[in-house]
Amino acid sequence: MSVRAFIGLGGNLGDTRRTLEAAIARLDGHAAIRTTGRSRFYRTPPWGHVDQPDFINAAIAVETSLTPHELLDVLLETERAFGRVRDGERWGPRTLDLDLLAYDALAWHDERLTVPHPRMAERAFVLLPLADIEPDFFIVGQGRVSALLETLDQAGCDVLP
Ligand code: ATP
Ligand code: MG
Ligand code: MG
Repeated sequence: MSVRAFIGLGGNLGDTRRTLEAAIARLDGHAAIRTTGRSRFYRTPPWGHVDQPDFINAAIAVETSLTPHELLDVLLETERAFGRVRDGERWGPRTLDLDLLAYDALAWHDERLTVPHPRMAERAFVLLPLADIEPDFFIVGQGRVSALLETLDQAGCDVLP
């Protein structure tokens, strides 16, 4: 379990908070994944298509012995297990979205996987949870989490009790 990775979680269909909790438990239960940190839960405005319910977002830090592509496969499989249906509409409503935000200091791009996640620096709903866990984390090619967050509009992002 030598590599540290960060995973962003989100959803806006069904009992999302419960789904996120269950997804974290399932990932932690994987033989090659150990959760080492988790953020608070945030209610956040939808991004992309704004005419859909608010999202709930969170992030976790994990240690893993999986390769980045193996980890991505586990994330996509977990999304399916929690009822994620891909209907072709990007950024539409979903029960669960699991994104690989960063995998140590790796910078990688192919047709299946880009790490660090290319759109995370513009998303308060990603960086706020990440800052709960590791504000000083340097996202390779993008910058420090806390510094990036300062440039973003955080309106409508609220910590859930
Ligand atoms: P966004 O990527 O803007 O957050 P999204 O999460 O809604 O949008 P998805 O439909 O969940 O997008 O993912 C589409 C594809 O993105 C996945 O099938 C996966 O192969 C690819 N992908 C590339 N890089 C990543 C990454 N770092 N984490 C998760 N998926 C990724
Ligand atoms: Mg996403
Ligand atoms: Mg995704």
